Amino acid sequence: MFNKLIQWVLDIFAGPNSKSNNSMMNIILFGPPGSGKGTQASSIVEKYNLLHISTGDLFRYEIGNSTELGLLAKSYMNKGELVPDDVTIGMLKNKVDANPDVAGYIFDGFPRNVYQSEALDRILDEKGQTVNVLLQLDVDDEEIVKRILNRGKTSGRSDDNDESIIRNRISIFNDETAPVYNYYEKLEKSVRINGIGSLEDIFDRLTAAIDATK
Ligand code: ADP
Repeated sequence: MFNKLIQWVLDIFAGPNSKSNNSMMNIILFGPPGSGKGTQASSIVEKYNLLHISTGDLFRYEIGNSTELGLLAKSYMNKGELVPDDVTIGMLKNKVDANPDVAGYIFDGFPRNVYQSEALDRILDEKGQTVNVLLQLDVDDEEIVKRILNRGKTSGRSDDNDESIIRNRISIFNDETAPVYNYYEKLEKSVRINGIGSLEDIFDRLTAAIDATK
């Protein structure tokens, strides 16, 4: 209680854009590959004025520019494997640090294992921030394979066209990424959302869960 009061006074003196501003809304949009995170994130950022940080998009940007980081990332992404943690975390931290004056972040594709979760908590903690909620989009494996193969027809992503690579991504999700849900569940921050239905229905479920955390 006393700590809260002190934080409140500090916030007033520091102003709305200060690093100790803890009224930010930081969301992890979570779920298996192809569960609709990217699509829904675009709608959520519009409504809440957040910065969308997709590690997959950041890697694809680097690949597009043929940077060293891009070449390295590509060698993992093409097999459906995770890019090494130090590379991914460094890139994520750069993006967060370069954009301090936002209403919050929506993390899409990050964290992908518990080690990355701990790193994210530290990165936000340095700013007096925290993860407010993790929203998991639940979609079953067969639906995912169907969706990604369909996306592959137009996305131009080599990891979207080969069923064995897609299945590898799903099994990495189940083995390494799913524990991230439990990590935030222990902090009472994890929420499950049915990821099957129309885009509008899923968006409504997500925004209801976000508004419930305010
Ligand atoms: P999807 O939406 O299908 O999950 P993403 O665009 O999020 O795909 O990610 C594509 C690929 O980029 C992943 O399969 C992985 O190789 C790499 N990648 C993205 N985010 C991370 C991360 N946080 N840690 C390690 N690798 C990542």
